[in-house]
Amino acid sequence: MLHQGLLLCVLTHCQCFSAALQGTPLSATLSLVMSQCCRKIKDTVHKLASDHKDIHSSVSRVGKAIDRNFDSEICGVVSDAVWDSREKQQQILQMAIVEHLYQQGMLSVAEELCQESTLNVDLDFKQPFLELNRILEALHEQDLGPALEWAVSHRQRLLELNSSLEFKLHRMHFIRLLAGGPEKQLEALSYARHFQPFARLHQREIQVMMGSLVYLRLGLEKSPYCHLLDNSHWAEICETFTRDACSLLGLSVESPLSVSFASGCVALPVLMNIKAVIEQRQCTGVWSHKDELPIEIELGMKCWYHSVFACPILRQQTSDSNPPIKLICGHVISRDALNKLINGGKLKCPYCPMEQNPADGKRIIF
Ligand SMILES: [Zn+2]
Repeated sequence: MLHQGLLLCVLTHCQCFSAALQGTPLSATLSLVMSQCCRKIKDTVHKLASDHKDIHSSVSRVGKAIDRNFDSEICGVVSDAVWDSREKQQQILQMAIVEHLYQQGMLSVAEELCQESTLNVDLDFKQPFLELNRILEALHEQDLGPALEWAVSHRQRLLELNSSLEFKLHRMHFIRLLAGGPEKQLEALSYARHFQPFARLHQREIQVMMGSLVYLRLGLEKSPYCHLLDNSHWAEICETFTRDACSLLGLSVESPLSVSFASGCVALPVLMNIKAVIEQRQCTGVWSHKDELPIEIELGMKCWYHSVFACPILRQQTSDSNPPIKLICGHVISRDALNKLINGGKLKCPYCPMEQNPADGKRIIF
């Protein structure tokens, strides 16, 4: 741009100059300067044109690269038979989006989508999200009240989950009192009784908080306990609350839509390859199952939710139709492997090798 501006300026000046001199013969020096100037301009214009050509050819290649690397036929990866009907497919997708919006706290957008898509969402479905968001919003504004109230009313179930949420909330309240300085000392001391139920599990943290009281007059920020005032405690509380509340309410911490989307991004290139191979070899029948992919796709540790068991005999992952069976000796094999190993109504464990009645094997559920 700078070059172009400069060029325009020079050109305009030259034009004015030549107009002023029209009709007058040029002196030798002036004509030399003029011709040098013109050559320079020509060179610059030439250089600019060739630069532009280079850029243009690169830019035009971008479009081709996009076309080459993106398959417009993504729909072909999923067979239509997966869905019962188009309407059902649309409904499931809309429901997933609505759930995602509720989970992200975008309540008004979710409501709008429900109205526009005439989706009927139960109040019972919405309620947990509404409550969760109300408490989280308060926590973001550093208001502990609603979260404490919730934690106290769900104390028993939180304890069953081994949750330290209630303790963390009380600790936060205590730290805020400490930050108030010496005039809050009495209040802080009397609040400390809330730690009593947690004395066994959080002894060390409680000791630290009691120790910090010594520095109340000096100011906590100048004491060895200044880490208590760190703002990261709030983020930690929000995280703990979301995780524990979600597991208590039977919700997933991350929205199913974002998890599916992230998994889809990882799996799509592999699925496209499989589709291409299946089409090339003309074996379309391979991929007919609704709930199963023709090969296993590694999605990374983040997507591990359930334990899986692979039969050591058949080297196959167990499934509902071929579940893992525990033999009386304690070794576990799949049912198909067990059936194959039966000989004359008896089963010899392939590992120990204890002889047993095949009917004594028990199904294991992970
Ligand atoms: Zn055995």
